[in-house]
Amino acid sequence: MAEYNVFPTANAALGVGDRVLLCAVCLNPLQPEKGELICANCSRHYQPVALCPDCGKPLEVMTACGAIDYFCQLGHGLISRRRLVYGYQE
Ligand SMILES: [Zn+2]
Ligand SMILES: [Zn+2]
Repeated sequence: MAEYNVFPTANAALGVGDRVLLCAVCLNPLQPEKGELICANCSRHYQPVALCPDCGKPLEVMTACGAIDYFCQLGHGLISRRRLVYGYQE
């Protein structure tokens, strides 16, 4: 199974989920754009993946009535957005 690197995060209430994600290379805050995260400093594009904070595996994304839920199929159930961990693959 693929392993994911975890984005560094900053302690600000902005960005994807409730956190600002930082570029893994230069630690510049990333800008969400069209489903990707873009670093304005080094022009890297990332595809963010929501990971379970308990097991680190990708979460199933379920959309219902305009709300987005994240569900761990490995027994951790629904994960609140505040607990989400974001990762990316090289
Ligand atoms: Zn960067
Ligand atoms: Zn889990």
